[in-house]
Order: sequence, then C-alpha cells, then structure tokens
Amino acid sequence: MTKISSLGYPRLGENREWKKLIESYWSKKITQQELFEGAKALRTDFLKKQLNAGLDLIPVGDFSFYDQILDLSVQFNIIPKRFSKEEVDIDLYFSIARGNKENVASAMKKWFNTNYHYIVPEWTKQRPKLNNNRLLELYLEAREIVGEKAKPVITGPITYVALSSGVEDFTAAVKSLLPLYKQVFKELVDAGAVYIQIDEPIFVTDEGSEYLEAAKGVYGYFAKEIPQAKFIFQTYFEALINAESLSQLPVAAFGLDFVHGLEENLAALTSGLFKGKEIFAGVIDGRNIWSSDFVKTAELLKTIKENTAEVIVQPSCSLLHVPVTAKNETGLETVLRNGLAFADEKLQEVKLLAEKLDGRETPAYKEHIAHFEALQAADFRNVELENAEQAATKRASSFEKRRDLQQKKLHLPLLPTTTIGSFPQSQEIRRTRLAWKRGRISDEDYQGFINAEIKRWIKIQEDLDLDVLVHGEFERVDMVEFFGQQLAGFATTKLGWVQSYGSRAVKPPIIYGDVQHIKPLTVRETVYAQSLTDRPVKGMLTGPITITNWSFERTDIPRRQLFDQIGLAIKDEIKLLEDAGIAIIQVDEAALREGLPLRKAKQKAYLDDAVRAFHIATSSVKDETQIHTHMCYSKFDEIIDSIRALDADVISIETSRSHGDIIESFETAVYPLGIGLGVYDIHSPRVPTKEEVIANIERPLHKLSPKQFWVNPDCGLKTRQEPETLAALKVLVAATKEVRRKLGS
Ligand code: GLN
Ligand code: ZN
Repeated sequence: MTKISSLGYPRLGENREWKKLIESYWSKKITQQELFEGAKALRTDFLKKQLNAGLDLIPVGDFSFYDQILDLSVQFNIIPKRFSKEEVDIDLYFSIARGNKENVASAMKKWFNTNYHYIVPEWTKQRPKLNNNRLLELYLEAREIVGEKAKPVITGPITYVALSSGVEDFTAAVKSLLPLYKQVFKELVDAGAVYIQIDEPIFVTDEGSEYLEAAKGVYGYFAKEIPQAKFIFQTYFEALINAESLSQLPVAAFGLDFVHGLEENLAALTSGLFKGKEIFAGVIDGRNIWSSDFVKTAELLKTIKENTAEVIVQPSCSLLHVPVTAKNETGLETVLRNGLAFADEKLQEVKLLAEKLDGRETPAYKEHIAHFEALQAADFRNVELENAEQAATKRASSFEKRRDLQQKKLHLPLLPTTTIGSFPQSQEIRRTRLAWKRGRISDEDYQGFINAEIKRWIKIQEDLDLDVLVHGEFERVDMVEFFGQQLAGFATTKLGWVQSYGSRAVKPPIIYGDVQHIKPLTVRETVYAQSLTDRPVKGMLTGPITITNWSFERTDIPRRQLFDQIGLAIKDEIKLLEDAGIAIIQVDEAALREGLPLRKAKQKAYLDDAVRAFHIATSSVKDETQIHTHMCYSKFDEIIDSIRALDADVISIETSRSHGDIIESFETAVYPLGIGLGVYDIHSPRVPTKEEVIANIERPLHKLSPKQFWVNPDCGLKTRQEPETLAALKVLVAATKEVRRKLGS
C-alpha cells in the first residue's frame, strides 16, 4: 500500500488558539507552565488530527513557539552575544525574536518566496553547543500519541548556515554544527526514530549551487555516523538546483516538489537519477488553497512511481503556509467552498490519491473530481471580460512632454512635498469601522464619520503646507483587502489565517473568479477630499501585482492573465477618478519585489508580466494626469530596469534602511523620471531633526536633479500616532523649504 506523509502542520490552530496562547503569555495573563501545557494540548490535537487523516508518517518538530529557525538557533546556542548574559529559556527565546528592554531583536527575513518570516541566526563568535535536544523531547511526546508514525523534522545545517548572518567561514560554521546534529539524530534513533526529514530548501535556489560540495561532505558524514536512520533530503518551492549532483547524496529518500518544480524534478526523475531511492512526492500544492486536479495528479503519481523504488505521497511543502480547514467557511458559495483545500483537506487529498495509485477509486475520490470540475465550470470563472490585448500599454506621449503638461496644470514648486497615502488610524477610527461592518451604525453615519476625518486631515495638510494632499485611507483596514472586498472575483474567508511572523497572522483574500470592476472603489472619498481644497489630492489605489501577491491567487489560469484582469479593473477605477477631476493618481506596488521568482531564469518573465499589467492599469490616462507609484523597501538593484519600465511619472520609495544603496540604483542616467526617496523612517515613532531631513534631501541631489525630486516620508503613516506624525511632517516641510531657498528658488 502506498504510504502517505506530510512535512508540517499549521501552528496557528483552527481559531488561532496558538496565537492567543502565546500572546497571553507575553501579556502575563498565563504562567510559563500554562504556556507549556497549552502548547502540549495543541500539539496533541494536531497529531491526532493527522493520525485520523491516515498519515503513515507524521511530522514532529514542526511545532514552534515562534519560528523553527529560531528553535534551532537556541538549541545550538547560536544566541547573539548581546543576549549572552541571560539564562537560556523560553523568555530568552522570545527576547531574541522580539527584543527586550536591554537588547534589540534579531532581524527577520522572508522564508524563501513565502510570506512567512524567520528569525535570522546571528553568528557572533559563540561556541555552538547543544543546549537541549528539543526534537527528542517532542519525538518522545509524539510517540505516546502516534507511535512509530512519528517522523522528526529539522532544517538541515547547510540551509541553516546559508540563512544566517555574520558567518565568516561557511564551511567552518557548518562543521561546527555537525556533531550537534549527530547527537540529535543519534538520540532520536535510539528512541526509535527511523525516518528523519532534513529540510534543505536552499538547494532549490541559485545560491544552492555554491553548496554542492558541502552537501556531499555533510550527508556523507550523517550516513556514516547514523547508518540506522533513513534520512529524507527534503526540498520545496522549486526544483533541485542540480539533481545530477544532489541525487548522489547517500540518503534513503528525497522529498521533491512536483508542483512548483514539476518539469525539472520530473525530468531528473525520469532520466533515472534517483534509481533505488524512495521519493517523497510533493504533489499537492502546499502554498495555495485550491483543491488538486486529481486527473492530472494521479497521472503524475503513476509516472513518479514507475521511476522510483518507492513513492510516498505528500504535500509539496509544510502546510504552515495554508489555513487549517475549509470546513468553517460556510459563508462562501458552495461551488467555491467545495473547491477549496486548506491543510486538513490537503491531507485528505493525499490519502485519496495514494488509494487511487493503489487502484482504489473511492466514492470520495469521484466526488472530489466532480467538485473540482464544478469549480472550473462555474460562471464566475467564465466571465466575458474586456480583452487585455486591446488595452493601451503605453502612455500617449513621452515622459518629457507629459511632465511639461502636468506642470502647467499643477503648478507644483521645486521639490514638491507629499505623503504616501495613509494617515494614523486612531482607536476611534478602527472602532467605528468595525461597528459599521457589524451593522451597528448606518452607512450614512459611517460615511459622515469618514468625511469628518478626511476634512480634518485636509485642513491639517494645508496648515502643514504640503503640496500634494491625500484623503488618508481611513476607510481601509488593509490596502489589498479593501480592493478585494469590492472587486468581483474576490472572497474573504472567516478563518483563513496563515502565520506571517511570530504570532502575527494574515488573512489573504481569495481570488476565486474572473476579476472585474463592478462599482467605484475610491471615488467617493477622493472626490470629497478634492472638493475641500485647491491643492491637488492624489487618488490612491493598489496595483495588480501587489493585489495578486498578497492574495491566495487562482492557479487555473496563467498568472499573467490574472495580472491583466486586475490591471483592467484598476484601469476602470483610474478612469472614474480622472473623469471626476483627480489630476494625480498613485498605484501602489508595495509587493512587486517580493513576488520575484526564486530562480533567476524565471524572473524576467515575471517582471515583464508585472510591468505589462501596470501599463494596462495606467497607460490610458491623459498626458496631463500624473501617475505615481510607491514601493516599500527591497533590494532594488536587480529590478531597476523594470521599475524604469513602469514609466510612472513619479515613484516614491522607502529608503531609510539603506539610503546609499538605493541612491546608487537610481542614478539620473538610469532613472530620469520623478522620484521621491523617503526622507525619514516611518517605522519608528522618533521625530527626525530638520538637519537629518535636509541631509536626506540633499544627498541624492548629487545624483538626481532637483527637478525630478519629490520629498515624502518612507511609507504610509497608518501605524503611527498623530502627534509624532504632525511633528515629523512639520520638519519635512521646513527642511524642504530650506533646501529650496539654498537652491535659490
Ligand atoms: N498607500 C499605502 C499607505 O500609505 C501604501 C502602503 C505600503 O506601501 N505598504 O498606507
Ligand atoms: Zn511602503
């Protein structure tokens, strides 16, 4: 009988019990013992659920109080020096993640191309040692519940060190960890473990090719030292970077992603590279919430089986990246709900597919296919849309010509000042918005409330003497959700939470059908704001790429088509704003960089599609209409050509975390369009001094012309308090005026 396995289960819990547990500990509502007991209860529950799902191998060690990489750091004593005086316990663990009174937290980074963030291990010349064998404790606990099905899971040494900071000698760092891994494995094997899953996702990235030699050394060592274990060399999110070489590693099994790395991994497999190995076949998408196409997947599994010693069916990656269960989503249309597969449903799919591979096609299997087909055939996936091929993808005139026409209309001073869109959202705003959503206050009262807030802030902005104003985004909880709730083709789940970092969870909207603009999204607020002032008010939209990247997207159509659909919808909204007299419209692409594929070879196509969708959204406007865009901090150098290609009249970007680098990327020769490099950091409540802001304006002016330069904060001000925001903007305007004087204008 074909076995089934999984790589990791969501920690959050069906009702975010995990988050609540941990936060209660942080706010001292529960004791440490209660925290541990609560965690154990959750783990027990997760194990039982997976046992009941019929898994033959159940992951252990995927549970964490914050992050699995931080677990390793503390276990191996890679504890930043500044924390070295503190006792190694759960409080130290949380302090590294969140900072404490004495010490700042470690940095966090995105886990490959997901929206999960890990705590970056900091090598500060500590001596690695085994502070505890956490995995063994968890394994022993799990044995009580699931017996021999318990499968320890750990991130491998190469990925761990590759994701670290402060490593001087890569090889030496890896070597220093090997005896510790060995001890962990030895104790596990002594306790009865057979399979041990070692995650090495670094080997699907371009960077992974640098570590092929290291892999031979490491896995040779493990094979020699712990011959009793059956190691699974597990990768995900892409195909192996070099299957020729990696398939030779002396491990019992390879866990491969046959969803995101399908073509390459399958080619490697069918060419016979993995002869004699067991293959843990990741055929169910662990990154998305859609039910699997069984007809295709069953075929795929057959091919995999023919090419390997043994196939074990599993999801493509840990289920950490999807919500727990779709069974609570009773608010969604039945066709849609039946087509969803969150973690629990994915485990069921794994089971059904394994049975099918063994020749058993159960009624549940047939029902699944019927549901899948009904979803594809649903009206909402077959809407007759405007043809994206016919939309303009280029502005009518050159930037120079547009700039002159826009200036004639707008009469902006040199170094125009503006903000990124949102203003502080007070308790009162949040409360009122929620009350309205729950139907406790009428639409009229709510709009009256929002209007009052807009009016107050238009006055504030005029008093501050800002040049381009915004309405403030008080009606939005989130820049993607707001659009998702109003465009056709999007749904909001009740409990579709996924972990983003620490206890922080997000609930991405689901793009389930063809996206269409069916009503005005932002016109009312924008036009109202504009009616209150003679200064230009900037319309504020989120762009197609950011909307897609921060949603659970459809996978039944090519991504490019989805970008285009949203691009068209945004185009319709821009037209409404333009017709209503709005002269400046900003289309935020905060998440452009983070959607970049892991592999260089796939990046160009993504960027081209992204640029094209932005063009579809923004190219149909009149020359006089000024298009802005905004991007949050990221490594821009490798995407600068695409940013240029967006052809936005003005871009504003976050820079405070690496001012120098970004200016490099935006030298005038390369970047001729309007540009605002954030002149102060909005992530901290600290009010900048005038001198600092002046320096941040003048420094880029060595490279960029004052004629193209805009002055703005780094990002939206939504999360800040009002007093510090007012103080900071006052400084911003004063500093700008001083630089203008110096420039003699
Ligand atoms: N317009 C948005 C705001 O100001 C942009 C936020 C972002 O880039 N993350 O909130
Ligand atoms: Zn931003």
